[in-house]
Amino acid sequence: MKKLFAVLGDPIGHSMSPIMLNDVLTNNNIDAHYHPFKVSPEDLEIAIKGLKAIGIAGFNVTIPHKSAIIPFLDDIDELALRIGAVNTVVNDNGKLVGYNTDGYGFIKGLEPYISSFSNKKVLVIGAGGAARAIYFTMAKMNPLAIDITNRTLMKAKELIQACPFESNSKPLSLKDAEAHLNEYDVVIQTTMIGMYPNVSETPISLKNLNNQALVCDIVYNPLETQFLLEARQKGATVQNGVEMFVYQGALAFEKWTGIFPDVKRMRDNVLRQLEA
Ligand code: NAP
Repeated sequence: MKKLFAVLGDPIGHSMSPIMLNDVLTNNNIDAHYHPFKVSPEDLEIAIKGLKAIGIAGFNVTIPHKSAIIPFLDDIDELALRIGAVNTVVNDNGKLVGYNTDGYGFIKGLEPYISSFSNKKVLVIGAGGAARAIYFTMAKMNPLAIDITNRTLMKAKELIQACPFESNSKPLSLKDAEAHLNEYDVVIQTTMIGMYPNVSETPISLKNLNNQALVCDIVYNPLETQFLLEARQKGATVQNGVEMFVYQGALAFEKWTGIFPDVKRMRDNVLRQLEA
């Protein structure tokens, strides 16, 4: 029987996951369909019960359900529980089990550049949901240091205090981060600053950027944010948010099927959608 996979969100019309994941299902000869469902927050519980009743094989959840879904799952992976957000659910013999592949997706996207973080000083800009997934996952990898800067400094402090993994971390104001920017090997921009339509905005000045640094922006619309453009002009290596998006999807697909898909194919597909 044809299997069903899905993504639940509100709104959901913009999601690139259906085209990306239906293509890898077909490419791997899996008789299944991946469908987007618009589910409002008040309908989330009943939607999850319905998906479980019909025996859905697995699904993704996106904004605004990543945290709200937790009470409706049968089990949750330790890291997802610590992050407090789920983006991937696996139907394990009738039990719905939640995972978070955002942080590992981001880190897997860095593999061409970084094999170990033990000698890397990392700066995370932002302290929202995406920063939390990236920070907690990366803290597990024992970087030399991983500091957080955020417009609201208290939120950076809270994120560091909430991290369950021991890490050498300090909260920084945006001004302090700008002043000490040359100390960082990896800079990760996790806010929505620079996202369409506010494409000229940047979260901090890159005046003091180390030109050997790797600079990542998890925004992918536009593909090159003003922040990445300025980093590239300073000589830094840059990476946009497509890699995180593709790898979080690849890791979800692997959890559902046991197959790690063709990431180049997925990336090309996403780039085609973004260009269209
Ligand atoms: P969120 O939880 O709402 O966090 C927003 C963050 O942005 C906070 O740190 C907030 O700072 C900061 N911020 C917002 N407006 C700001 C401004 N005008 N000036 C300074 N800081 C500002 O959002 P999220 O879920 O983490 O998502 C953040 C971005 O990541 C979005 O653009 C989303 O599309 C993208 N994303 C990409 C991927 C991917 O796969 N590539 C995955 C997830 C998310 P305060 O604490 O001071 O409010």
